[in-house]
Amino acid sequence: MCVPVNGPGPAGALTPVALSRSRSGRPASSPTDAAPPTDGPLVDTFGRVHDDLRISVTDRCNLRCVYCMPEEGLTFLPRSELLDFEEIVRVATVAHRLGVRSVRITGGEPLVRRGIVDLVRMLAGVGFDDLSMTTNGMGLETLARALADAGLQRVNVSCDSLRADRYARLRRRGDLGRVLAGMGAADSAGLAPVKVNVVLLPGENDDEILAFADFARRTGRIVRFIEYMPLDADGAWQPDRVVEGARVLREISARWPLEEVPGSKVDRAPAERFRFVDGAGEIGIVSSVSQPFCGTCNRLRLTAEGSLRNCLFSDDELSVRDVLRSGGSDVELAALFRRSVWGKARGHGINTPGFVPPVRSMSMIGG
Ligand code: SAM
Ligand code: SF4
Repeated sequence: MCVPVNGPGPAGALTPVALSRSRSGRPASSPTDAAPPTDGPLVDTFGRVHDDLRISVTDRCNLRCVYCMPEEGLTFLPRSELLDFEEIVRVATVAHRLGVRSVRITGGEPLVRRGIVDLVRMLAGVGFDDLSMTTNGMGLETLARALADAGLQRVNVSCDSLRADRYARLRRRGDLGRVLAGMGAADSAGLAPVKVNVVLLPGENDDEILAFADFARRTGRIVRFIEYMPLDADGAWQPDRVVEGARVLREISARWPLEEVPGSKVDRAPAERFRFVDGAGEIGIVSSVSQPFCGTCNRLRLTAEGSLRNCLFSDDELSVRDVLRSGGSDVELAALFRRSVWGKARGHGINTPGFVPPVRSMSMIGG
């Protein structure tokens, strides 16, 4: 049932896409030395067009989830190093001109950035087809309506347990009641459909797979089960700490039969989408580790201090902040985007021997 969302080619294989006849013969394992194109869409050397930008607006957070941040000891960026709102919007506008159509605001926790509603309003003015946010939901109850009025279209709310004590342990400092209230406020504000991100950890919350499926059925929210990735600041990730998406599907479909949502495989979103055969709702599976979707990756990331990253797992970064703060032009910013995309590797290689996790952990990149 579970088929990887890779590009054309055998399941699990990454399929380089020839850009042109002249390039079709080159080995497809690494980016080219040739210069990036100067017009057309944001395309990499494997033919993947990039039209999705994740913008991290802060590296700070009001929680300390066990799979993301350390309990203490993190140092955060001084405010002067963060891109300000005008800088973020200028970069986003250049991205839009280059064909970026969807933007997700993230962090750290985006709702702790002061003035976030104003930033949403400014980004909404750029004209993206899709403007969404990933949040831990702690501040959503008070902000959902204002965010929707400012032009936010959708939210993903992270919530790894439906048991208050366990939620508090996994997310350290969190309060399940507040997060559920935040989801309710998001529903009411029309930030729909609310998606609920669940990172499963063996022996911690993997006995709640059916409870979350039931939650999806009862609430109409789309629960997305996400495999634990080697992006935790504590460096505790191990391959055997990954609860595979295939297992989640097996368990849920044995209780409530599922079918793939038509078009799910051609959709380039990382979640494979399944709906309950009885029509009671939908779930998503994000098998980033067991079945990587690099072959169809269309994403770029902008960190809170203005570094462009072409992959969650790559340490290659290009600084838009340097361009912005040295009086650089939009043409130079566009060239930086093209360079970043052009330098993208074929895949993240989590499953290959010798894989080295990136230096930055998830909250410092923007998930
Ligand atoms: N603070 C917000 C939140 O928690 O939703 C937004 C940023 S958070 C980094 C974005 C998403 O990344 C969350 O859904 C979180 O659960 C997920 N995440 C963080 N660390 C992860 C890891 N090591 N593996 C998989 N997902 C992770
Ligand atoms: Fe904060 Fe989100 Fe990381 Fe949890 S996952 S520590 S809420 S940034």
